[in-house]
Amino acid sequence: MTHWDEDKRARPLVGQYIETLKPYVPGKPIEELRRERGIQGEILKLASNENPLGPSPLALEAARAALLEGHLYPDGAAFVLRNRLSEYLGVDMARIVSGNGSNELLELIVRTFATSADHAIVSEHSFIVYRIILKSMNVPFTVVPAAADMGHDLVAMARAARSNTRLVFVANPNNPTGTYNGRAELEAMLSILAERPDPPLVVMDEAYFEFADAEDYPDSSRYQGLYPRIVALRTFSKCYGMASFRVGYAVATEEVAGYLHRVRAPFNTNRIGQLAAAAAVDDEDFLRRTLELNRVERARVSAALSDMGLEVVPTQANFVLCRTPLLASDLYDKLLDRGIIVRPLDGYALDHHVRISFGTPPQNNRLIEALREVLSP
Ligand code: PMP
Repeated sequence: MTHWDEDKRARPLVGQYIETLKPYVPGKPIEELRRERGIQGEILKLASNENPLGPSPLALEAARAALLEGHLYPDGAAFVLRNRLSEYLGVDMARIVSGNGSNELLELIVRTFATSADHAIVSEHSFIVYRIILKSMNVPFTVVPAAADMGHDLVAMARAARSNTRLVFVANPNNPTGTYNGRAELEAMLSILAERPDPPLVVMDEAYFEFADAEDYPDSSRYQGLYPRIVALRTFSKCYGMASFRVGYAVATEEVAGYLHRVRAPFNTNRIGQLAAAAAVDDEDFLRRTLELNRVERARVSAALSDMGLEVVPTQANFVLCRTPLLASDLYDKLLDRGIIVRPLDGYALDHHVRISFGTPPQNNRLIEALREVLSP
């Protein structure tokens, strides 16, 4: 105990890669805005791509029942959930891994398949969490410039692969741009990678899968026959309205899933989340309502923003990216004063862009009105 007086800090214990790590900045919570600005009326949060209809009612019912067994550990293998997903997706249960949100699966994949001697590939303007996880594990990575539509340039990403590239991250649809890559682009990327002596694992992050309705949108859970080193990630956070339950899943080959099962924590998904998510899979009515609302409001809000002179990026997700004449941080601040939380993208090096999630029709009307006010000269 002799040295404490000289240096009590923990700094010497962390690597430079942890020292320089910047934490993820989530959308501002409603309670925080109320505390900070003393706003009395209803606060509208359109900052985290949540479901404006709330959680699936069937999920809620199952969650209430599961609470009574809260004293028991969950089933570590998440049998009920994975079994239900297996029927729903038509894939063997051994190919499915559930996670504490798809975020945990991203982390598990990096831990399982990459070390600091390896290399990974991400796209410019893609989900920032990939870089945070890679940095936190000291895995070097290349950021490939985005395509003209601000989305991923899959062929350029494939060409950036090196002999030690283990992972390629593709968000489809992408957050924060809402852009997507079609089947032809995905297949072009996979055929370039398949030529390599040791092809990397392609991580298809499909958190917004259900919202995508483009005719050529690919379902990457069907590509393992063509390219075995591909994994599809999905989540209950968005279309099932279950962001707080923290449940996501991966679909991969049985071999890849087996490695992830070896590495994951024994009880990585909780009982309430598992059983609520299994029930949500049966809530076809809720899913239909969610997707219909999003389809209509996506077109309407995108058109209204364009009419206001904002540059809108065409979106396949439940949010839209737009370029504003104001600094994103100023626009954000003015909307906060009006009780509306959007997502400024200065953290993504997009100083004039904000990302806005779609709400219910009255919520979107309130947003459009506030934006008109804020943007009027
Ligand atoms: N991937 C993408 C592209 C996302 O936007 C999000 C949520 N913001 C996630 C993964 C993580 O979602 P969750 O952990 O809630 O499943």
